[in-house]
Parts: sequence; C-alpha cells; structure tokens
Amino acid sequence: MNINVVIVGHVDHGKSTLIGRFLYDSESIKEGRVEEIQKLAEEYKRRFEFAYFLDSFDDELKEERTIDTTGVMFKGKENLYSIADVPGHKEFIKNMLTGASRADVAVLVVAADEGIQEQTGRHTFLIHMLGIKQIFVVVNKMDAVDYSKTVFNNIKKKVEHLLDSLGYQDIQFIPGSAMEGDNIYNPSRQMKWYRGPTLIQALDSVKISKKTMPLRFVVQDTYSFDSPRVVVGRVESGTLRTGDEVVFQPSNVRSRIEKIKVMGHELEKAELGDSIGIVVDKEVKRGDVCGLVKTPPVPVEEFLGEAVLLERTLRKGDRMELRCATRRVSCEIKEIREKINSETGEVMEKYPAVINENEAAIILFATEPLVVEKFSEIPELGRFVLAKDRNIAAGVVLEAAR
Ligand code: GDP
Repeated sequence: MNINVVIVGHVDHGKSTLIGRFLYDSESIKEGRVEEIQKLAEEYKRRFEFAYFLDSFDDELKEERTIDTTGVMFKGKENLYSIADVPGHKEFIKNMLTGASRADVAVLVVAADEGIQEQTGRHTFLIHMLGIKQIFVVVNKMDAVDYSKTVFNNIKKKVEHLLDSLGYQDIQFIPGSAMEGDNIYNPSRQMKWYRGPTLIQALDSVKISKKTMPLRFVVQDTYSFDSPRVVVGRVESGTLRTGDEVVFQPSNVRSRIEKIKVMGHELEKAELGDSIGIVVDKEVKRGDVCGLVKTPPVPVEEFLGEAVLLERTLRKGDRMELRCATRRVSCEIKEIREKINSETGEVMEKYPAVINENEAAIILFATEPLVVEKFSEIPELGRFVLAKDRNIAAGVVLEAAR
C-alpha cells in the first residue's frame, strides 16, 4: 500500500533528520550520495547530518537556509511511503492548500530535551483540522537525555493530554533518536525498557481504507477556439469514462464525454489524480466541477468551515474572496460560531465578535454558488483560502449546506 505521511513538530526537534535516517537505514539513497554528502559537508565545514540526504540539501547548505518542504519516498516492509516534512506553521498551511499535505498518517516529533513547544500544539491542531486520524508520536533525541525512561514518560503524559483534548486516544509513543538510529528503522540497543514497535513497524501496521467517492473533475481551463471543445482539468475523485453523461456545476451544463485525452493519446477512462483534456459539446467555465449525472456535484450558497487566520482580523459581516480548487468567488462571514485556540484546540468563545491572527474559528460562509465537498472526503474541493489583497486565512469544509 502507498501511504502518505506528514512529519510535523516544532522547529529543530529533528524532523528532517528523521527523514534522512529513514532514507539511510532503508537503503533508499542513491549510490555515491553518502560520499558526495560527506564531501560537501567538509567543503562547507559543516558537521555531517542525516538531514543532508534530503534532495534540497545542496541548496540549503549553500544558502544556509532551512528546507521548505521535501517530498521523498522509501519502502518499509509492508508499505511504500511518501513523506512530507513541514518545518513551519505558515508553510504547513500553504502545503495544506497546495495539496502537498494529502496525508493519511502523521508523525509528531517532540524533542526529549525540550518537550512540547509552540509548534507542537499548532501542528497537532492542524493535523486534527485536516481530519488525519492516525498519529504516531516520536519522542526524539533520547540520546541527549541519556535514554531516560522518566523523561520519556513525562513528555508522553503531557503530549497525551494535548492529543486527548483534540480527540486522539490510544496513541503510540516511540522513544527514539533519529541521529543515532534508535527505534526509527532499527530497534534500539539503548532502550531495553521500551518494548513497543519501532517507528517503521508502527507505520507498517497502518491500514487505510479509502472510500470510493463519486467523480469530481475540476475544470482548469477551456479551449473554445478549438472545435470540438477541449476542457482541461484534473480528476479529484472517482472515475471518468468516455460516453459518460456528465453535468458541470455551477454552470449547470449537461454534456456527454466524447473523448478523454492525455498528451495526444486517447484514453478510455481517467482516475483520481489524472490531469486530462476532455472533449465535450457544450461551453463550460474554468472553476466548474463536473460529475456524473447520477451523482452530480451540487453547488451551495452556504457552508460550514473551519479556518485558521494567518494575519489581520476577521469579523462577522466581512466580505472577501474565497478560493476553492480553481474557482474564486466572493463570500461573506455570515456567522462566527466558535473561536478556537489553534495551539490547544480549546473552544475559547462561542459566537465571538472578532477572530485574531493565529486563532481558528468555525465559520458559516455565504458565497456565490460554489461546489464544495467535505475535506475529509474530497480534499481538493474541501480546502479553501480567504483573501483580501492577499491570503489571510486557510481552512477546510466541514459541512456543505444543501
Ligand atoms: P527539524 O527542524 O525538525 O527538521 O530538525 P532537524 O532535523 O534539522 O534537526 C535539528 C538539529 O537537531 C540538528 O542539528 C540535528 O542534528 C539535531 N538532531 C536531530 N535528531 C537528533 C537526535 O536524535 N539526537 C540529537 N542529539 N540531535 C538530533
């Protein structure tokens, strides 16, 4: 099975090192890369770090900046993993919006010598908001605290409390050292007191049941100078076949799929994630969402969402632009139902007058007709950005009112 993992946690708690360790121990590193990295590190007078195995390392070393996001893949015994590393809060939200964080499982890294820090809470909250149900916690840098069971248990208790308030129970905690290689890919020789799984064993036990969802094809562009008309976009859920009777919303245009094309070839069908061109006999618009006539997308004019404010303030009655998939509409904040602390997930106030930077909220939006879906079901149609000149908030769709 192919599993998307997102690694979260406070800056410097060892996320990149953990990924590098995974790559190294699973022998997923290209031949010669180890030597190449050692040479580069010497040349730039830097200590060797496992994080250097991430492809963007060369740039990082030269520019002395931290990597933004890295997508890497490696194999466990059971599953194939795609891993995304998320260093900062804003980057995380950005990734969530671009789809980089289409994660099935999250690994929360907490350094043993520092314990819970600001981003530990914020990232955990976002994991919860994104509807990611499976979390593993690595208490990292155990080597820096003499592999102490007491330190591990103290941190575990605090993180458990945080997770519990967000609705996560019975979470697996793993004491590890990404740097020394304890309990990440290989079992630790230093922590005989721990009898649980290594991180890779824990990940290998993950089972994901992917629900089949109805077809949703998001229109990115149309080429109407062509005859017949070619509509370009991406399948975000379900399957599209030639001959299908479809409807585009909110334009409310019905059509038959005459052809499906990819780079000059014709296909019989297209599936989730495929970027394709389709030939239809009617005019549709960028931002439309297409579905089968029997399971059509339904445009709404109101929906309930949860958003985190990245900057400025938000009040009931405010108007702004809402961007969802390829569509931009104007929207109004109709009700702010709850103000939420984005570090702890606690409800701070019901029906507050104002939401400030870094706070989260459950909001009822009124919009121009728009196709949205629950984020947990069809992520691409379930995430949105609010913009006033520039992006001020990011969120997910909880419930589409129909
Ligand atoms: P990130 O910001 O969370 O990606 O953290 P990095 O992976 O860049 O690690 C930050 C620093 O912590 C680096 O200097 C690492 O060498 C160090 N580090 C990472 N993992 C461990 C560990 O298991 N033990 C110790 N002692 N240091 C570690």
